[in-house]
Amino acid sequence: MAEHAKAPGKSFRKGISLIEIVEMFPDDETAERWFEEQRWGKAGEPHCCPLCGSKDRLNATKSGEPLPYWCGSCRRHFSVRSGTVMHRSKIPLRKWAIAICLWATSLKGVSSMKLHRDLNITQKSAYFLAQRLREAWSDMGGDMGGPVEVDETFVGGKAKNMHAVDRERRITGRGGIDKTAVAGAKDRATGNVSARVISGTDRATLHDFVASAAAQGATVYTDDHKGYLGIPHPHETVRHSVSEYVSGMAHTNGIESFWALLKRGYHGTFHHISPKHLQRYVAEFATRHNLRPQDTATMMSETVARMNGKRLTYAALTANALPGTVAEPDCGEPW
Ligand SMILES: [Zn+2]
Repeated sequence: MAEHAKAPGKSFRKGISLIEIVEMFPDDETAERWFEEQRWGKAGEPHCCPLCGSKDRLNATKSGEPLPYWCGSCRRHFSVRSGTVMHRSKIPLRKWAIAICLWATSLKGVSSMKLHRDLNITQKSAYFLAQRLREAWSDMGGDMGGPVEVDETFVGGKAKNMHAVDRERRITGRGGIDKTAVAGAKDRATGNVSARVISGTDRATLHDFVASAAAQGATVYTDDHKGYLGIPHPHETVRHSVSEYVSGMAHTNGIESFWALLKRGYHGTFHHISPKHLQRYVAEFATRHNLRPQDTATMMSETVARMNGKRLTYAALTANALPGTVAEPDCGEPW
């Protein structure tokens, strides 16, 4: 039987090949114009100062200055990088643009080793760039209208032990000693996932997570972990403890396939993630999952939009600051 070419269906997304992305950004000037258009619209000119918010007295700087714009209100120079996770980065904008494309389209994540080799930057720069992209993607979804699947898992440890540990935790409700608990929710209506590292799988913590993830009145599906008993939502459970994996609508297969992807990234791409940094990776995988129905160009634009107003300094990263906690300093200080 002849094979028929499949018509573009719901899962069709317009991708961008590596060669197209390199052609799209032949030099830094082109990349700078692209970033400016993403941030400031077609005209590509700032409509307010990213450092002080002033809307007037914005000018192009005199030639010879390293930054292209000047704000007469705070008397500072700025560029399209200012007030974003690219602030003070010395990596050329062309490399940032190509990194964003790789980042958005690599299902299992991109290791800093790969960015180091593909972009021809040092591994330290690649690691810092990757963590800044994670910071851009650190927004947490919530308030899902549902129905919402909620589940928790343990991340970490050696791949060969995963299965046994997963089984063990189903029986005892506890993960291994080198594992970190993560709670996740998937909205069946939108397909969106929200996930975060949690301190444990006790009742108070799981109730807290359900309250942040599911909107009031949304139906919640979970397994029969005792920690979910008594949540104030319409609640149905599937009894994993007696190997009942699908019970009518009450299953958690959607969020469990997200766990499978997260763990493939953990073991296949990163090999090990320190528990201190795990939250950034969990948010990265959730955001990539949520952006994936879009085509590549839209995913890239969305990423640039999420870079605004966020910052991660190398000092904060090495001091293990939590995602979203490095805020703009008071006015007067350099951003
Ligand atoms: Zn200003």
